[in-house]
Amino acid sequence: MTNGKLQAALLGATGAVGQRFIRILDRHPMFHIAHLMASEKSAGMQYASVCNWFLDEPIPERIGSMVIEKCMPEKKIDIAFSGLDSSVAGDIEVWFAKAGIPVVSNSKNHRMDDDVPLIIPEVNPEHLELVNVQKRKYANGGYIVTNPNCSTIILSVGLYPLIKNFGVTAVIVNTMQGLSGAGYPGVSSLDVIDNIIPFIPGEEEKLVLEPGKIFGRFNNTLVDYADLKVSASCHRVPVLDGHLMSVSVKLAASATPADIVDCWKNEQGAVADLRLPSQAAPLINYIDDPFRPQPRKDRMAGGGMGITIGSMRKCNVLDYKFRILGHNTIRGAAGGAVLVAELLKAKGYL
Ligand code: NAP
Repeated sequence: MTNGKLQAALLGATGAVGQRFIRILDRHPMFHIAHLMASEKSAGMQYASVCNWFLDEPIPERIGSMVIEKCMPEKKIDIAFSGLDSSVAGDIEVWFAKAGIPVVSNSKNHRMDDDVPLIIPEVNPEHLELVNVQKRKYANGGYIVTNPNCSTIILSVGLYPLIKNFGVTAVIVNTMQGLSGAGYPGVSSLDVIDNIIPFIPGEEEKLVLEPGKIFGRFNNTLVDYADLKVSASCHRVPVLDGHLMSVSVKLAASATPADIVDCWKNEQGAVADLRLPSQAAPLINYIDDPFRPQPRKDRMAGGGMGITIGSMRKCNVLDYKFRILGHNTIRGAAGGAVLVAELLKAKGYL
C-alpha cells in the first residue's frame, strides 16, 4: 500500500482490455497502477512507444512513460488485474496466486475451476467466499477470482432480476458482438467490413455454461449449478464497442410485461448498499423505444457499467423477448474486474 492505495499490476497491459484497465484505474481511489506487464516482445519498452493505443482518450502521461515489464510476481504487488491472452493466462495467473498475489482475471482459463469464483458483484457476491476455499491451496494469501465472459456478464445482469422475481427456466440468445471483443488487432477489416461473421470460436459454449455457475448456490464448499437451459448463437458485427443481444426467456412463474419492466427498473444489484466506486446507477436502463438499445447511443450508459434493455414483448415460442446491450471492454471486462476488486476490498479480502 502506498499513499493509501493498493499497488496494482496490469497483466496484458497493452491489449484491448489492458487499455481499458488503464483508463479506469488511472485515477481510481483505491488502486494505483504500479506495474505494466505484457509479453517479452513488449518488455523493456516505454508503454507509449509500443502500445497500439486505440481508445479515443489519450494515454495518461504517467502511464505512457512507464516501462513495460515481463509478467513476474514480486513482493510489492497488492493485486494483479489480468487481461492476458488466454494462451498464457492460465499458468501466469497461478504463478501470481502462488506468490501470494490476489488475481482478478478476465481470461477464460480458470472461470470454471471448482474453487474459483465467477463473479458479477451485483448478481452473486456471495460466491466470493470460494476465495477462502482457494486460500488453503495458495497458503500465502494469493487467489484467483474471475470475471465471466463479456456477453455472459451483460446477459446475466439482465436476467438477474427476472430470476430473482419469477425464475427463468430457458433462454435463447443471439448476440451481435463488437470488434474490440476480439482483442487487438482482432478481426481483419477485409473480413468484417460490409459483413457479419456468424461464428466466434468458444463463445457459444461460454454463454451456455457460465450462467449455470453464476446463478448457482454456494454450499460452503462449492457452487451447485443452477438448472438454467441456454441456447446461444454468436455473431461478430462491424461495430467498434458494444455487444447487442436479442433474448427470449421462459419464466417459471407468470408475469405481465409491466411486472418485468418494473423489476428491471427497480433493480440496483446485490451490493448497492456498499456504494462501490464503479457501480452504475441505475444498473439497468429500460428504454421504451423499439429502435433502442443501439451500440453507439447506449454503450456508455452509467460510464459503460450500466446495461440497457429495450423492446420487451411477447414471444410466441418462449414467454417474453427483449434486447440487451452492454459495453464489452468496460462492463464486460476491465470495468467489471475493477468492480470485483472494489468488492474484494469492501469485504476485507484485500
Ligand atoms: P489482446 O488485445 O489480444 O491483448 C492480449 C494481451 O496479452 C496483450 O497485452 C499481450 O501483450 C499479452 N500477451 C500475449 N502473449 C503474452 C505472453 N506470452 N506473455 C505475457 N503477455 C502476453 O486481448 P484482449 O481483447 O485485451 O483480451 C484479453 C483477455 O481478456 C483474453 O483472455 C480475452 O479472452 C479476455 N476478454 C476480452 C474481452 C474483450 O472485450 N476484448 C472481454 C472479456 C474478456 P503484447 O502486446 O506484449 O503481446
